[in-house]
Amino acid sequence: MGFRIIELKLPTGYSENELKERIAKECRSRKFTWQIETKSLDARKKGSIHWLLRVGVSSQEIKGEEPEPGLSLEIPYLRKNKRVVITGSGPAGFFAAYVLQKAGFDTLILERGAEVDKRAKGIADFEHTGEFSPVANYSFGEGGAGTFSDGKLTSRSKHISPERDFFLSEYIRAGAPEEIRYMTHPHVGSDNLKRIVKNLRKAYTEMGGEIRFEKTVLGITVKDGKMMEAVTEEEPFPADYFIFAPGHSSYETYRMLIAAGVQFRTKGFALGCRAEHLQSDINRAQWGVEGLPGVKAAEYRLASDGDGKHPVYSFCMCPGGIVVPAATYRHINIVNGMSFYGRGGEFSNAACVAGIHPDELTGRKATPLEALEWLENLEATFFDYSGSYRAPFCSISDFLHESEPHKVPETSYPLGLVPAPLWNMIPKGVADSLKSGLADFCRKIKGYEKGTLLGLESKTSSPVQVIREKNGLCTGFDNLFLAGEGSGYAGGIVSSAADGIKIAMNIIGSCG
Ligand SMILES: Cc1cc2nc3c(=O)[nH]c(=O)nc-3n(C[C@H](O)[C@H](O)[C@H](O)COP(=O)(O)OP(=O)(O)OC[C@H]3O[C@@H](n4cnc5c(N)ncnc54)[C@H](O)[C@@H]3O)c2cc1C
Repeated sequence: MGFRIIELKLPTGYSENELKERIAKECRSRKFTWQIETKSLDARKKGSIHWLLRVGVSSQEIKGEEPEPGLSLEIPYLRKNKRVVITGSGPAGFFAAYVLQKAGFDTLILERGAEVDKRAKGIADFEHTGEFSPVANYSFGEGGAGTFSDGKLTSRSKHISPERDFFLSEYIRAGAPEEIRYMTHPHVGSDNLKRIVKNLRKAYTEMGGEIRFEKTVLGITVKDGKMMEAVTEEEPFPADYFIFAPGHSSYETYRMLIAAGVQFRTKGFALGCRAEHLQSDINRAQWGVEGLPGVKAAEYRLASDGDGKHPVYSFCMCPGGIVVPAATYRHINIVNGMSFYGRGGEFSNAACVAGIHPDELTGRKATPLEALEWLENLEATFFDYSGSYRAPFCSISDFLHESEPHKVPETSYPLGLVPAPLWNMIPKGVADSLKSGLADFCRKIKGYEKGTLLGLESKTSSPVQVIREKNGLCTGFDNLFLAGEGSGYAGGIVSSAADGIKIAMNIIGSCG
C-alpha cells in the first residue's frame, strides 16, 4: 500500500464528494482511503477565503511510504497497590487520576464542586435569579473551570505532543468530534463538554477510580516533608502520593498550601475586560461578508505593544458566544466567555487584557499572599460597584475617550449591565496600556470600537507559581505534587491536562 500527503485548497462550503474528486485528481486514482491531517481557514485575502487541507492518502496505486507514527504515551500497568489522592477534577486533576488509575494505582479525586448536571442547574439558577452557588458555578465543579466554556483545545506549548495526543484521543472516545484531531483551532463547545466530562467519569470509575463531589480539601497534614493526609470537614484521606490540581481560582486552597509550607513565587499575569461585539460585525471585518458556507463564525487574535509598558492582547475568543458571570465566590464580580459547538450566537466575545507583574500593582516586592489578596480585593470592588453580579460596562469608544457610558447596549451577558467608568476601576497603568492597545485593535479590525467592554477579566492566568522540581514535586516535599493552572506552569484545558498527565507519568516512572 502506498501513501502520499497532498495539500488541497478548497472552497469554504466544499462537500465530501468534492474532496474525494480532488484527491482522485491529485493522485490519479479512484481507489484510495484518506485521512485529514490538518485543516485551517486561510482568510488572509477577503475575496478568496478557503480551507487549506493536508490529507494523507493510502492506495495501491500510489507510491511512497507512510511516515512512522509519532511518539505515543505508553502507560505501563504496574498494580502497585499505591494510593493517590487528587484534589480537583479539572483537566489537570482528572487526567492525572485517569492515567494513574489506568496504570494500576488506586486513585481518589476530591472535588469541592458538584457533579456536572447539578453544576449546570446551579449555573442556570444563578443566571436566572442572581443567587450564587459556591458548589455549582463557572469555576468549581466536575470538569473544572473549562466545563462551561468554548472548549478551545489549542495549546501554544510545543513540548506536550504525546500527552496532547492521549488527551485528544480520550476526548474523542468520550464524544468529542473527530475533527479536534486535525483542526488548527479545535473547539468542542460547552454543549459537548458536559457530555464528555460525564463519559470520562464513567470510563474512570469503570477502571475502579473514585471521585467524591462537594468535598473540599481544607488542610493537609505533613510529617518530615511527607504529606500524610488530605483533610476535609468530615474525614482525613491518607495516601502514598498527593496531587493538588485546584486551578487558579481557589484562593483559600493557595492560602492553606502556603500555610502548610508549600513554596510559591509571584509571576506576571494579565488584567482587563471582556470585549463583546456583534458577530456579524466581526464576520464582515474579517471576511468582508456576513457569513460563509461551511465556516461557523469569524475569529480574531490580536496583540499590541500598547503604550510600550504592558503587552496588550486578546485571549480566549468565543465566536458566537456568551459572556458569563464567572464569580468564584460570593461578592466577587468577574466575567469570562463560553460558546456552544455551533458557535451560532449573535455575539462574539474575547478577553482584552494587559500583562502585568504583581510587584507593579502592589508598588513593592509582593509576596504570593499579597498578590492573591490584591487580586481578590480588585475582584470585590467590581461587585461593590454594581452591588450585584450585573457587569460594569462601557463601550470601547467610551473607554478610549474616558466618556461616561449612558446607553445600555444589547448583550449576551445574562445578568444585566451597569454603566461604569472602567478606565478608573482598573489600575491606571493597566488602563493606559489597554487604551493604547484598544486603539491599535480599532485600526486592525474595522468597527472594533463599536464593541462593549464588560467587567473585570482577571482569570487568564495565575499571579503565583509554585516552586516545584522538574517532576512536578513541590520543593521540600517527598510526595506532594502541584499540577495544572493552579501550579502556574499551565494555562488552558490542553496544557493543564498535559501537565497532570506528565506528573502522573513521573509518579508511575518512580514506581516502575
Ligand atoms: C468560563 C471559562 C471559559 C474558559 N474557556 C477556555 C477555553 O475555551 N479553552 C481553554 O483552553 N481554556 C479555557 N478556560 C480555562 C481552562 O478552563 C483552565 O485553564 C483549565 O480548566 C485549568 O485546568 P486545571 O485542571 O488546572 O484547573 P481547573 O479546571 O480550574 O480545576 C480545578 C478544580 O479543583 C477544584 N478545587 C479547587 N480547590 C479545591 C479544594 N481545596 N478541594 C477540592 N477541590 C478543589 C475546583 O472546584 C475545580 O473543579 C476557561 C475558563 C473559564 C472559567
